[in-house]
Amino acid sequence: MASMRAMVLERPGSPLVMRERPVPTPGAGEILVKIAACGVCRTDLHLVDGELPNPKLPIVPGHEIVGRVAALGAGVEGLDVTGRALGERVGVPWLGHTCQACVYCRDGRENLCDAPLFTGYTRDGGYATHVVADARFCFPLTGSSDDAETAPLLCAGLIGWRSYRVAGEGQALGLYGFGAAAHILAQVAAWQGRRVYAFTRPGDMAAQSLARSLGAVWAGGSEETQPELLDAAIIFAPVGALVPLALKAVRKGGRVVCGGIHMSDIPSFPYRDLWEERQIVSVANLTREDARDFLAIAPQAGVKTTVTRYPLVEANAALADLRQGRIQGAAVLIP
Ligand SMILES: [Zn+2]
Ligand SMILES: [Zn+2]
Repeated sequence: MASMRAMVLERPGSPLVMRERPVPTPGAGEILVKIAACGVCRTDLHLVDGELPNPKLPIVPGHEIVGRVAALGAGVEGLDVTGRALGERVGVPWLGHTCQACVYCRDGRENLCDAPLFTGYTRDGGYATHVVADARFCFPLTGSSDDAETAPLLCAGLIGWRSYRVAGEGQALGLYGFGAAAHILAQVAAWQGRRVYAFTRPGDMAAQSLARSLGAVWAGGSEETQPELLDAAIIFAPVGALVPLALKAVRKGGRVVCGGIHMSDIPSFPYRDLWEERQIVSVANLTREDARDFLAIAPQAGVKTTVTRYPLVEANAALADLRQGRIQGAAVLIP
């Protein structure tokens, strides 16, 4: 039997370990994907650190997967919408499965499904040579873009895009935490003619200069004051203390969007900072519609990702570098 390799989390708080396993067989409605690249997302860090409730254990993390279809399960071939062909390049995102029956699924909000599966959290993900995925939740990746440079679009891009849409149409947009998601979104926002204000860790000159090079009109530390009030702010850094800071940076009626799955506690703040119809909202997961929209827009906007490649076996080093803020753009694992 053919075997595959995977970096496995057996217990939160412990390093990933390399394991050999038989290559899985796709079930009905599933595909087997031979992985070419998998992005490293901050959510993976939260998973490894035990900050996300009830992961499947052991679990293979990773939900920014680019690969090629290596086998089809029953019923996949010939379906109009979900039909995938052998050898086709596909992306496998965080949203791995939804029930299609709960009130959220029926209401066009499958990102909030009551019985979902998430790639690399509650079903095995892409820190591996192979993965099995629900064919209906994979996306064809056309074009000739580099596999590693495409991988970050699958989460940083998609959930960034959902956050961006929730932020509204305002022209002055703040991005707090200039990592994988912000470095993609800044390009889309600048392409749409918006004014991007990039807030980084104080003193992170490398991130600030990356932000300016990608179209930000201003970049500074999170405690600095930008030259105009913002219409909206998106917080990608997992730092609750940024919420009251961002509220002070938005104008009346402005919106603060929390784009991550986990954040440290939000400190208390005076009600007057929320007054005048300022809003705080969170964004959870993605819908397949978000993915289709964003994957169409990214090439039009000329989105180019900045990636650092790591061999699969170096996954722990990639996570450590992400934790320490040593990565410009996005880290990507190559099996
Ligand atoms: Zn559902
Ligand atoms: Zn992610």
